[in-house]
This record gives sequence, structure tokens and C-alpha cells, in this order.
Amino acid sequence: MKKRVFSGARPTGRQHIGNYIGAIQNYVALQKEYECIYCIVDIHALTTLENTDRLQQDIHEMMLDWLAAGLDPQKSILFVQSHVPEVMELYTLLGMVTPLGWLMRVPTFKEKARMQPHNVNYGLVGYPVLMTADIVLYKAEVVPVGEDQLPHLELAREIARRFNSLFGPTFPEPQAKLTSFPMVLGLNGAQKMGKSYDNYVELAATPEETYKLVMTAVTDPARKYRSDPGHPEVCNVFSLHGFFNPDSTDEIAVECHSAKIGCVDCKKLLAEGINSKLAAFREKRASFAAEPQYVAEVLADGAERAKVIAERTLAEVKEKMGLLPRDV
Ligand code: SF4
Repeated sequence: MKKRVFSGARPTGRQHIGNYIGAIQNYVALQKEYECIYCIVDIHALTTLENTDRLQQDIHEMMLDWLAAGLDPQKSILFVQSHVPEVMELYTLLGMVTPLGWLMRVPTFKEKARMQPHNVNYGLVGYPVLMTADIVLYKAEVVPVGEDQLPHLELAREIARRFNSLFGPTFPEPQAKLTSFPMVLGLNGAQKMGKSYDNYVELAATPEETYKLVMTAVTDPARKYRSDPGHPEVCNVFSLHGFFNPDSTDEIAVECHSAKIGCVDCKKLLAEGINSKLAAFREKRASFAAEPQYVAEVLADGAERAKVIAERTLAEVKEKMGLLPRDV
């Protein structure tokens, strides 16, 4: 029997190439080996979102990207977290077995509290408990994570362990599956590619938009003139070539070192690489987007399938916690 994978991602709308390299392509690959459950975690988003006007649109756009990238609703369960409300019930119940001290120590809580001092809400403290509920509700055994998320997963494992020791074996302790793709730097070369830094290229951008954006990318800061030899090893454009033009990286490195190629031409090559690699994705996305009900149908079906598992787990949890009458 295939092991079960769970992963959740916040609804951030149209995805960018950093999302694709860092997470989505891994999600797609895992479908071959595992039974996958992928969730857009809209409740988590409420811990930091103060304006939810775009929430539904963001969920729709993100799911279009996931589908076009190869997440297959025939193979995986794709759904929205709040569409299976059992997760909120389990979140409350797990909260009763999670010592507050464990949550107060989580570095991301302190960081978020620093970033939004006007909105240090209860959800920020309870975030790891909700994340644990997401995973264990589906009895997932494997969770794909980046290095930075390992402490969160460790906490989820501790909460699952504590529940099991108090009420008897119920949840598998989820194992981390480290993604092998490094962090993707944004076009400014300074931070991780992300919406909040405005340093990204959307997967669904047109070829022209892609070209314009790539032309703004920061390159080797030491290369001031066209005749200066470059240092591809410190250049973000070069690292993106590694993904979009993998067969040309050796040649580009040699030409950069010897100043045979200029940064403008090098960026043109990158834009061409991105556009060619994403051409099929963009075509598929446009065809899904042309069917107005398609995403809604995928999400409804996913929620229905997720709910079957969720109801079973929740009944078991409530029974073990003494919330349901037991046979005597
Ligand atoms: Fe970077 Fe390319 Fe310029 Fe070299 S030629 S510094 S790899 S953009």
C-alpha cells in the first residue's frame, strides 16, 4: 500500500517560478510514489490576512496553477482546508493536549508577532496545532518540507506522540521528506522569491511580461562594464539558468568568466528558457481557465474525498477522548 503524503500551502494566488521550483514540481513528482493529499490552507491565511477580499480569487488562481503544473485530481486529493471543517474540531481537541510552553517557544510565532504587533492573534500561537490537525486528520505518514519547516514538523510529531501516549495509538508520527530543491532567490538577488518582495515571475505571465521582468534581474554586482569578467557563481540569473537552461550552463559559465557574453544577452537567453519550459503549462492553464466550473468541481470532489477520511479519524479521536459513549 502506498504511504500517504499531506502538504498544505497558503492561498497566495498566481504562483511564481520560485513556488514551482521549490514546491510544486516536488508535489507533482510525489504523485508517482505516494497517495497525496494537497490542501490550500485558507484558515492558516487568516492568521496574517487582514483583508480577505481576494481570498476566493487567490484560491482559484492557485489551483489553476497546480492543475496546469500536473497535479492530477484523479491521483491526488486537492481541496481547500475550510471545506473540510472537521479540521477545526480536531484543532480544538489537540489544543487540549498541547502545552502552551511548546507553542510559545516556536520561533515563527515570535517573528510573526514582531512583524504584526497590532495583530498578535490567538491563531498565531495555535498555528502549529492547526498544522498538526491538518496532517494527522488524514493520518499522513509523510510531509514534504524544506529545512526551515523542520522545527514545525517536529512539534507536530510531539503533539501526535503526546496524544498517542494519553489516549492510545491513533496517529502515525509524520516523517519529513526533505525537498531537494534549494531556495530560489528573487529577481532582486536579495531575498527568497516571493510576492511580498515583488521580485518574482509568475508561471502564468505572458512571454512578453516574462522578458520584461527578467531584464530587471540583478546580476553579478562586481560586473560593472560589459568587458568585465563575470562571476556566475554569485549571479542569480545563472542559478535560474540551472533550472531553465540546464544544458547550456557550462557554456554560459565559460562565456561569463571570459566576458564573451554580456548580462543583457544572458538574460535574454534566460527569458527564452523560461518561456519555452513554461509554454505547455501556460497553454494548459488557459484551457482550464476557459472552463469556469472546472476548478470548483475539482475542489468539491477533493473535499468530499478528504471528508471521508476526516470523519473517520475524528470519530476515533472523540471516542478515545471520551466524548462519545463507549460500548459497555
Ligand atoms: Fe550573470 Fe549571465 Fe551576467 Fe554572467 S553574464 S553575470 S551569469 S547575467
